[in-house]
Amino acid sequence: MTVIYLLRDDLRLADNPALVAAAKRGPVIPLFVLDPGVTDTRVLGGAARWWLHHSLSSLNQSLVQRGSRLVCRRGDTLRTVLALAEDVGAEGVYLARGYAPWDVLLETRLHDELVQQSRVLRRFSGRLLFEPEAVTTRSGGPFKVFTPFWRACLASAEPHGPVDGPAQLVPPDVWPTSLTPDQLGLLPTGVDWTRGLARAWTPGEVGAGNRLFAFLSGAADGYADGRDFPAAPGTSRLSPHLRWGEISPRSVWHALETVHRQGGEAFRRQLGWRDFAQHLIFHFPDLPDKPLQTAFDAVPWGDGAGVLDLWQRGRTGYPIVDAGMRELWQTGWMHNRVRMIAASFLVKHLLVDWRHGARWFMDTLVDADPANNSAGWQWVAGCGTDAAPYFRVFNPVLQGNRFDPAGEYVRRWVPELARLPDTVLQQPWHAAPPILGNAGVSLGTDYPKPLVEHSAARARALDAYAVARPTS
Ligand code: FAD
Repeated sequence: MTVIYLLRDDLRLADNPALVAAAKRGPVIPLFVLDPGVTDTRVLGGAARWWLHHSLSSLNQSLVQRGSRLVCRRGDTLRTVLALAEDVGAEGVYLARGYAPWDVLLETRLHDELVQQSRVLRRFSGRLLFEPEAVTTRSGGPFKVFTPFWRACLASAEPHGPVDGPAQLVPPDVWPTSLTPDQLGLLPTGVDWTRGLARAWTPGEVGAGNRLFAFLSGAADGYADGRDFPAAPGTSRLSPHLRWGEISPRSVWHALETVHRQGGEAFRRQLGWRDFAQHLIFHFPDLPDKPLQTAFDAVPWGDGAGVLDLWQRGRTGYPIVDAGMRELWQTGWMHNRVRMIAASFLVKHLLVDWRHGARWFMDTLVDADPANNSAGWQWVAGCGTDAAPYFRVFNPVLQGNRFDPAGEYVRRWVPELARLPDTVLQQPWHAAPPILGNAGVSLGTDYPKPLVEHSAARARALDAYAVARPTS
């Protein structure tokens, strides 16, 4: 009997247990539903929509090669799936389970409604290395701190090896109607701002595999030492591929077997942070909306009037922050170290509410993910359960000097400063007028003066955070 395989964040054929199980039952209808009614933190930003468009197109091609195709619909997900199940007389719906509150709610409602129709819902794992209920504290509760979480993960059974994707899929007798990925309307209709994204990325399962291969044959061995330096390709850049499920974390985990031990361990730990974010959103569903440490509700963060826009456009006057924000705007991605610096600058130096920053990231990142993004922002803002201490205020000049010592990253993304010497590149306001003149920089005209002075901003942040009286 026909099974509907409902795709969400798992746009791949390989190592996809839900799809393999569906294929064993008989005809499969792979279904993707774009739900325009979504109004919360799941709203897809422009960069994510661009990615999704290309990823769905790529997946459709792979399905066609296996005798199948992708059925795309627009509408309320629950209603759309139920209506299709009824139309095609499906035996049931198979999917990879999700962990965010809206995923859990959808799956519960879908299960209940399908049972009413005498159909089944089968939920499979596949998005994570370690399921959130499988890793618990000694008292059986969820973890709030990463290190013990990861220790418990490593002490449990190793994730099993990836399973092959189906070589062929049985089509239904009649294909239900479908929109094409184009008709989903995911691409921008006005000015085409996506060229930088297209240059930087190849969405889809093949692109993901190539990216993994490039990492394994390049930076992987030196990952432990190289991962913090944004100028070099020291990290995998797999995050959007993992975000959209174009490659499974288990495939990545097992592919690391050939990598030097230190690099492999450090990299697996980062995959662990990804699992941890899902662990958090599963057990603490308010993660995208509220500080996990409620004391931080009292911090008088502002709405960013007059400064948020400058931060978004990379015009803060701090070169490492501006370089990151421009990398983000042009490529839909920002190096993790710089995400921390730029985010910290917004919430601590500019005292803007972390949720405004998180929203901007959700709109501009190709890997925008409600769990990873919210956990990242709460960590930086100091209000998460496993946060950077609230009193740690990154100094963007020192961070720039340390992690971009030759200034390559800043020069790439802030080209108007390219001719400044290294000594003042991260703090052009300290350059003597002849040095600025020689480099062709007029501060305040070509490049902004700093929006705030570091020591004063730091003192203001500590004052503001003091009212929160954090618990520890
Ligand atoms: P690598 O260093 O190669 O790491 C491998 C994989 O591990 C990544 O692809 C990613 O899936 C995972 N990973 C690495 N670091 C982290 C981390 N700190 N937290 C969770 N998972 C991690 N990541 C997202 O995928 N989506 C987001 O929306 C997102 N928002 C962030 C917001 C802030 C404020 C911060 C500080 C971090 C955010 N991150 C987010 C995490 C991290 O910055 C990116 O996953 C990382 O930059 C991806 O680059 P990479 O693939 O080269 O990472």
